[in-house]
Amino acid sequence: MPLSCLRLGVLALALAGAGGSLAQARGQQHAHVHGQVELGVAIEGPAIIVEMRTPLDNLVGFERAPRNDVEKNTVDQALARLRAADHLFKIDPAGNCKLGPVTLESPVLGLVPAAAANAPAAKDAGKDEHAELLASVAFNCTSADQVKHIDLDLFQAFTRMRQVDAEIVTSEGQHKRSLKRPASRLSWPR
Ligand SMILES: [Zn+2]
Repeated sequence: MPLSCLRLGVLALALAGAGGSLAQARGQQHAHVHGQVELGVAIEGPAIIVEMRTPLDNLVGFERAPRNDVEKNTVDQALARLRAADHLFKIDPAGNCKLGPVTLESPVLGLVPAAAANAPAAKDAGKDEHAELLASVAFNCTSADQVKHIDLDLFQAFTRMRQVDAEIVTSEGQHKRSLKRPASRLSWPR
């Protein structure tokens, strides 16, 4: 239960951080800008939660269900990369962290968590010409409070990504960071 509360909090913060410009586009709740990624990082107790919201276009080049084998293959490869999240998000070794559960949500790809299957957001999916993917990644660490940076492999893995807007929440405060290709290190002060 604490973890799911934390997840929601991180996402809310990340969305609030990017809200100004995003909210303008056609008044859509989840309007997005291709090339941009929203990232929330929360360090609490022994856990580090990384939550990423990205336009599907950033991952596969389209924002709908795959229509042929080539597109299906593209989707499979992207999802495999996301599930190997410890290669995309390389946590500061000082934390001694191990990858925990990875949850991927993207209704147009059929990735809908059971708990959210009846939520309004899932029902509305498909009306919109845009689509996104939400990835939630948990790391279990022995020294999470020692973690001061995360190296992102996102720009190498997904060539359409241009910018990552991140909000990091630690026990000592909140930090906003914006990384533009090809920068890769997300760091924050002790
Ligand atoms: Zn889009």
